[in-house]
Amino acid sequence: MLPEPVLEGAAEDIREVFNSGMSVLEVSHRGPEYEKIHRQARERLLKLMGLSETTHAVFFLGGGASLQFAQVPMNFLSAGQSADFLHTGEWPGRAIEEARFFGTARVAGSSSDTRFDRIPRSIQFDPSARYVHLCTNNTIEGTHWSTLPDTGSVPLVLDASSDFLGRSIDYSRAGLVFAGAQKNLGPAGVTVVVARRDWIEKEARKDVPAILSYRNLIKHDGLYNTPPVFGVAVVARVLEWLEGQGGVAAVQERNRRKAELLYAALEAHPEVFEIPVIQTGDRSWMNVVFRLKDPSREAAFLKGAQAQGMDGLKGHRSVGGLRASIYNAFPEAGCRVLADYLHRFARGV
Ligand SMILES: *Cc1c(COP(=O)(O)O)cnc(C)c1O
Repeated sequence: MLPEPVLEGAAEDIREVFNSGMSVLEVSHRGPEYEKIHRQARERLLKLMGLSETTHAVFFLGGGASLQFAQVPMNFLSAGQSADFLHTGEWPGRAIEEARFFGTARVAGSSSDTRFDRIPRSIQFDPSARYVHLCTNNTIEGTHWSTLPDTGSVPLVLDASSDFLGRSIDYSRAGLVFAGAQKNLGPAGVTVVVARRDWIEKEARKDVPAILSYRNLIKHDGLYNTPPVFGVAVVARVLEWLEGQGGVAAVQERNRRKAELLYAALEAHPEVFEIPVIQTGDRSWMNVVFRLKDPSREAAFLKGAQAQGMDGLKGHRSVGGLRASIYNAFPEAGCRVLADYLHRFARGV
């Protein structure tokens, strides 16, 4: 979901942006209108993350979070070098596969033995790893890291696609953070990358095609080629909305309450519902993953939900079951409606 005021603002921008006589869909990415949008998006983003322009670079790129699975190792990993991965689900699994084209992808911790139903507790980091890849929130499996592990002097690379600016995370501990915008931050088609300038300047490879080189992006102040202009304009509006909500700390409180409402409703009926993630501290605040004890009732569950105006409750196609994705813009009232439905479904009324 996107917040209503953001949709209205985006519609206005499509008609005319900054009294320019042009639609945001028409302006040049080198013109003053886009320059302003880009600057606003970048400033708001860093402020909400608690970072600064002097230490961190921001890029708005295409290619999705999936491109970052390849672009990060392409820039920071060579044959004979190794990076550590925390294998907590489908998305980190894909990042591991991509990194293997460039160097060694070592698994420092994994919960694959238990079908990714938890955040691994037993982790062995390699102190000489180039970086540690960690997915802050596992969208498909419904787990999140409640705290980031200590990686010593090895930089963290965070895939924050599904909880970016949805809870307070100490982003200053990361060398690089990336997030596809479409879950928590804006429309599909733009990916946010925030990286420590000194890490890129000191450690990034130079033998990388210009279009994929973080060094080259820094050199061009993030505007090497045409960015996804409209997507960035919507992201800028989402960030403005987020500021108006009181920032990440305020939104986090609401997100925690929203998730707790749903987990409590599910736990109230253990004979009907199952939550695969047992450890409460590992449970995602963004993706509430659950199953019916009797899977043959799933179609009826979904049909009943649809009749109440609730859509998109099917689990990811790779794991099945059910999932409520309750990103930043999803209202608390919506969670109350779903919690109420869960209770009624369980009681058969
Ligand atoms: C959705 C998702 C991705 C993939 O995003 P694309 O933008 O489709 O490439 C990667 N990581 C996480 C954690 C996700 O939730």
